[in-house]
Amino acid sequence: AALDRIEKIDGQIEAFLHTSRERALTWAQEVDKRLQEGQELSDLAGIPMALKDNICTEGIPTTCASKILGNFVPPYNATVTEKLYQGKAILVGKTNMDEFAMGSSTENSAFRKTKNPWDEQRVPGGSSGGSAAAVASSEVFYALGSDTGGSIRQPASFCGLVGLKPTYGLVSRYGLIAYASSLDQIGPLTKDVEDCALVLNAIAGHDPMDSTSAEGKEVDYRKALISDVKGLKIGIAKEYFGEGIDEAVKRNVYAAIEQLKSLGADYEEVSLPHTEYALPTYYILASSECSSNLARFDGIRYGYRTESYDNLTDLFVKTRSEGFGEEVKRRIMLGTYALSSGYYDAYYKKALQVRTLIKQDFDKAFEKFDVLIAPTTPTPAFRLGEKTDDPLQMYMSDVCTVPINIAGIPAISVPCGFVEGLPVGLQIMGKHFAESTLLRVAYTVE
Ligand code: GLN
Repeated sequence: AALDRIEKIDGQIEAFLHTSRERALTWAQEVDKRLQEGQELSDLAGIPMALKDNICTEGIPTTCASKILGNFVPPYNATVTEKLYQGKAILVGKTNMDEFAMGSSTENSAFRKTKNPWDEQRVPGGSSGGSAAAVASSEVFYALGSDTGGSIRQPASFCGLVGLKPTYGLVSRYGLIAYASSLDQIGPLTKDVEDCALVLNAIAGHDPMDSTSAEGKEVDYRKALISDVKGLKIGIAKEYFGEGIDEAVKRNVYAAIEQLKSLGADYEEVSLPHTEYALPTYYILASSECSSNLARFDGIRYGYRTESYDNLTDLFVKTRSEGFGEEVKRRIMLGTYALSSGYYDAYYKKALQVRTLIKQDFDKAFEKFDVLIAPTTPTPAFRLGEKTDDPLQMYMSDVCTVPINIAGIPAISVPCGFVEGLPVGLQIMGKHFAESTLLRVAYTVE
C-alpha cells in the first residue's frame, strides 16, 4: 500500500530521492512469513518507513541531496538504520532534504523541490522536508530526520506532524553524514506521539561507534504515554513570543497552554535573556563546523569528481565548485572565515562563550520549571520561492528552534491547531534526557 501510494502521489509531492521497491517487498514477505509462524516481532516490524538521505544505508544511495554525493552508495549502515533493520522495519526509500541539511525549506536540494502536502504551493519546511512530506502524505508511517538547528521540528510543524529532537547523545550519529557535529541529532517524524515513543524506543541508546553517545539506562518511552500533567510547572519562554512571531500562531500556542492549565498544570512567564544571540551564535558555530566536516569531499575518496583538471589543486577546486550548491558554499566560506587566524577569537571563540550563556539560561529555567513551551516556528509554512533570494529571511525561520541545539536539550513539536488551513506546531523543551516528560506533555496536548 505504501509503495502504491508513493507511485500515485510522489510525482506531485516529490518527497523521495530513491525508493527501493523490490527490497521492501522482499522484507515485507519475510515479516509476513515470520508472523505466520507465530514469531514475536518488534513494534515496528513490517511497517513501511523512510530515512532522510543523509543517513547511511548499505547498498542504497545516500546523497545528502548533493551533486557531490550523487553517486555515493555507502558500504555500511548507520546505527539507526541497523537498529531499525534489526526490528524488521521496512525501508521503502530515502527522502529529499536541503543539501547537507543546510536550509529550512528543502529548496536547497540539488535534485528536486518537495511540496507541502497541505498546500502544494508551500514548502514542507527543512531540512528534513522530504521525511515530513512523506509521512504527512501517508506514503510511509514514519520517517527519520536529522535536526541541527530545527530540521526535524520545523518541518513537523509545517506538515502537522510530531517531530522530536532528542537530547544530544541519546541517539547515535554513527553513519549520519555530519553537518555540524556538536549540534546534529537524529530523531523521528511521526503522525502522533505514540508513534514517536515507539520509534524513539527503537533508535535510542548507547553506541560505542559514536564517541558523543551517552551511556545511561534504557528507558521504555511507551510508559510516558499518559495524559497527566497535574502539578506540572510550565515556563512560558517570553523571548519566543516577541517580534516576528505571527499573532495567530501565538494564539494557538496560548490556547494549548490554557488547555494544559485546565488539566492541572501551572504556568508562569520566564525570561531566557540570551535568546536574541542564539541565531548568530548558531550560524557561526554551524558554519565553522561544516567548513571542517565538508573538507572530506575532495573528489578523491568518494563521490563526484570533475571531468577534466590540470593538477591536484585544480581537481579539488573544480570538484568542489561543481559539486556543492550555493548555500553549502556560502556556509563553507562563512565558517572558514570565522575559523581563520585573526578572526577566530572574535567569531568562533566568542560564539562558544555565548553558547555557554545560552545553556545557562536553560539550566536556570529548569531549576524552576519542568518544561518550557514556545511556538516551533514564527509562521506556518511559507510559499515555495518566498525566501530563496534572501538567506537571512530563511535563517530567521529558525529563531525558535536553534537555541535548543545550542544547549543540547531535547524538544518536541506537536500540532496545535491551524492558521488559515495550515498546521501550527507547539514546541515543548525539557532538561537533558527528559524525553519522557516531553512525551507525556505532548501526549496530553495532542
Ligand atoms: N535551517 C537550519 C540550517 O540551515 C537548521 C538545519 C538543520 O537543522 N539541519 O542550518
